[in-house]
Amino acid sequence: MKRLTDPDRGAINVILNHSNHVHERPFKLSKKHSLFQRIPYRNILDGVGNTPIIRLNKMAAGLKAEIFAKLEFLNPMGSIKDRIAKYMIEKAEKEERIKPGDTIIDNSSGNTALGLAMVCSVKGYKVKMIVRDSLSLEKIKFLRAMNVELVMIDHTLPPESPNSYNNITPRIVRETKGGYYFDQHNNRENNETHYTMTGPEIWKQMEGKIDYFVAGIGTGGTICGVSKYLKEKDPKIKVIGVDPVGSIFYDYFHSKKLVNSSPYYLEGLGDEFLIRCVDFALIDDIYQISDKRAFQLTRQLADTEVILAGGSSGAAVWATLRLAKEIDRPARIVTIFADSATRYLSTIYNDDWLREKGFL
Ligand code: PMP
Repeated sequence: MKRLTDPDRGAINVILNHSNHVHERPFKLSKKHSLFQRIPYRNILDGVGNTPIIRLNKMAAGLKAEIFAKLEFLNPMGSIKDRIAKYMIEKAEKEERIKPGDTIIDNSSGNTALGLAMVCSVKGYKVKMIVRDSLSLEKIKFLRAMNVELVMIDHTLPPESPNSYNNITPRIVRETKGGYYFDQHNNRENNETHYTMTGPEIWKQMEGKIDYFVAGIGTGGTICGVSKYLKEKDPKIKVIGVDPVGSIFYDYFHSKKLVNSSPYYLEGLGDEFLIRCVDFALIDDIYQISDKRAFQLTRQLADTEVILAGGSSGAAVWATLRLAKEIDRPARIVTIFADSATRYLSTIYNDDWLREKGFL
């Protein structure tokens, strides 16, 4: 315990000294890793990225593989989407596609909207977001608090309706003076964000020792951007996506069939159309998950690891556990926890809601 006085290594030593009690398989931080590298930020945008990776100890107990999760809910607005908001707006600024006073428009399951609300507030743009009326109340309250203009879309409209969530957005952009279509689903700058930021962070944090990368597929930006980077570094790394029952990606990947989508409650994952940011060539397998299983695992994460995450994190951790059981050998599996429980207190973390929907 005497190395505790070392200002750079103190907290790490505390963790390591207790590691036999806490962890099944203790591991050492390498010398070049310091947990204390943060300097004062110029503004909130400097807080985007460089999120920690945590090893899941209790959830992975008894498995031969190790499971690691990158806690993206520790970004300033609470999700991985802060990254694309910052990167893509700054790129559009550099290329003079936008100027202060313009209105940034997109459809979003809430997290991109919040990331954009932050970036645009700092930089002087307006934000108009198209959201489904099934969005969790917490996200709506956050967005209203950030003065984001919301266009609410009836979530029961069929995808082919001209007023559906996907179809109405380009029309609203055309009708808005100074409107800029962010287009997170089809603009490959989304993937580029994760290729330049998230992928290198993961590679560095894991010191290049990764066997599998597992992530939910929403726009596909995260999984495809990270996959491209990791596979360039080590082509042996396998990448597995997670898709909710009701979305179309799982069936398209496995049978090349475009099935009809159906409604589901898991927010942030899946889609009713093929979109440009999902590049199936960068994905080795896709697992399918039900709402019920995703929500059960989300609650289990909170109970066991004290990680209060959103539903897509429950889906991601389920996929890592399934993978670890299937391979049944030592391996390092890395996944992403995209957002936090604060978005879902009235749904996934509310037993009455779970019971009402038949998930409990
Ligand atoms: N989880 C949540 C909660 C999300 O909001 C999103 C973004 N739609 C994702 C996962 C998936 O990220 P991506 O869009 O990069 O595929």
